[in-house]
Parts: sequence; C-alpha cells; structure tokens
Amino acid sequence: MPEGDTVWLAGRTLDQALAGQALVRSDLRVPELATVDLVGRTVVEVESYGKHLFFHFDHDAIVHTHFRMDGSWHLYSSGQRWHGGPGWQIRAIMFTDTVTAVGYRLPVIDMFTGADRDRLISQLGPDLIRDDLDFAAAAQRCLTGEPWRPIGEVLLDQRVVAGLGLIYVTETLFLHSITPWVPVDQVHDLAGVLRTASRLMRANRHHYIQTTTGDTARGAWHWVYERAGRGCRRCGATIAIAWQAIAPQKRLAYWCPRCQSGPAPVGLSTEERRRLRPTGRSRYRP
Ligand SMILES: [Zn+2]
Repeated sequence: MPEGDTVWLAGRTLDQALAGQALVRSDLRVPELATVDLVGRTVVEVESYGKHLFFHFDHDAIVHTHFRMDGSWHLYSSGQRWHGGPGWQIRAIMFTDTVTAVGYRLPVIDMFTGADRDRLISQLGPDLIRDDLDFAAAAQRCLTGEPWRPIGEVLLDQRVVAGLGLIYVTETLFLHSITPWVPVDQVHDLAGVLRTASRLMRANRHHYIQTTTGDTARGAWHWVYERAGRGCRRCGATIAIAWQAIAPQKRLAYWCPRCQSGPAPVGLSTEERRRLRPTGRSRYRP
C-alpha cells in the first residue's frame, strides 16, 4: 500500500525525470479532464505532500493525483515496453521528448491552481516525511478535537498527520508497546510515537522496500504487520488480528497481545484469518 515514503520517492523520481521539460503530448483519461491539453506546458516541479502528488506546470497549472490503495506512476524511456498493468488501467500519460510518465490505477486526478493546492494542504496535518518537523506541535494536533479517539485511528487520519498508512502505524505501535485502541490522550510520549513513525518512513524513502525491522530479506520486513497467527519476533506469542473501525471504512489491525498493552477487541477466527491472508501487493515500484 503506498504510504508517505512511497509517494515521496515517486515524487522525487518524477521530478528528476520531468522538471524543466515541456510536454509534447498528454492524455488525462478522466471525463472531467478529457479536453485538457498540456502540450507545450513545462513541468516546473513534482512535489509530494503526505500521500498527494502535485505536478506543477508553468502558468499556475497543477495536476494533482492520489494513489489510494494501489495506484502508481511509472517512467519509461521512448521505445521501452510499458509494464505497469493492462492498458485500461492507465489514467494519465505525460510525454516529453525523452521520457514518458504513465499513471496506473489512479483514482484521483484533478487540475488545480496554486490556490487549490494550498487549500488542500491546509486541510492536512504536517507531512511526517519532512526532516524538520516539530513533533511536539504535531502531538498537540493529535490531541485536539477528540482526545478519546484510539491512537491507531488518529495516526491514520490525514487531517491530523499526513503520510502514514497501515504499515507504519501498525509497526510504530508495536515498537511503543501499545495497542491501536489506546485513547490518544492516554499515550505516553505521543511526540516520541510520531518521531518513530517519521523515522521508519524516512528510513525507507530511498527504496521501495518498506522494512521496519531493518532487515531487507523477504519475509523479514515487519514486526507484526501481515503476520497474524505467526510468532512475535520478540516474545514468541501469536500475533493477533482484528478489524479496526475507521470511518468510513474498516482496516485490519495486527498486534502482539503480550508485547503491546491496552484495550483490544476479540481477534478474528481461524477461518476469517485464512480468508484475509496477505495479498503480497503491499509494494509498489515505478
Ligand atoms: Zn511479543
């Protein structure tokens, strides 16, 4: 699942490939943008914020995209075969003289002005991938509004802090020995929790493996995420799994019942667990 580090790396890679170049052809395959023609427009910068990407063009034009669950941007040199998925999954194509950027399975594509971009970012929390974050201020933001909300829900709320998805939230809470259902105002060292989440994301932002154990060997990346039914790497207890209600959807939560303290629901049955086996699609590569 694309999280802040994946989007940051995609933005940086696209920026290096496209910035300063004019488009010689463009194709935005969403009904509202069918008449938009970006030919002749120069890419000024590709910027990421949380899970959002902004392609800044000259004359105050911005293409905004969001990956949601499994969208991705791929870069190809001319003549190279495209391999990001079947053609019907392509939602956007930008051609320059030297490279082609192809957006697959993008559920969100908009044309923005700078003011639209500023308005969207003003509704988001601070971007945890940034190096210069004020963690005390970010922790304070987590406590405003509904301080009784479960920490696992607060960290996934992009209006509170931007960039985190289920992998980093799950792993951060394991490292801080609390379950996702601890009310946010009862979390000891909330700024430290945010610092850990940020550190994990930043440690992975230069590659497409999302490891939180520091081990890059396949199958060794995570402490508890997608490890339901297996032994905890620290204490050997069986990793638990349950649904976590996060309006308007629900997400799976993984935790070690021995290492992590705090409230927890009854876990899923063996049958449910079997149905929810990891899909192996948690990675993304441009
Ligand atoms: Zn454990």
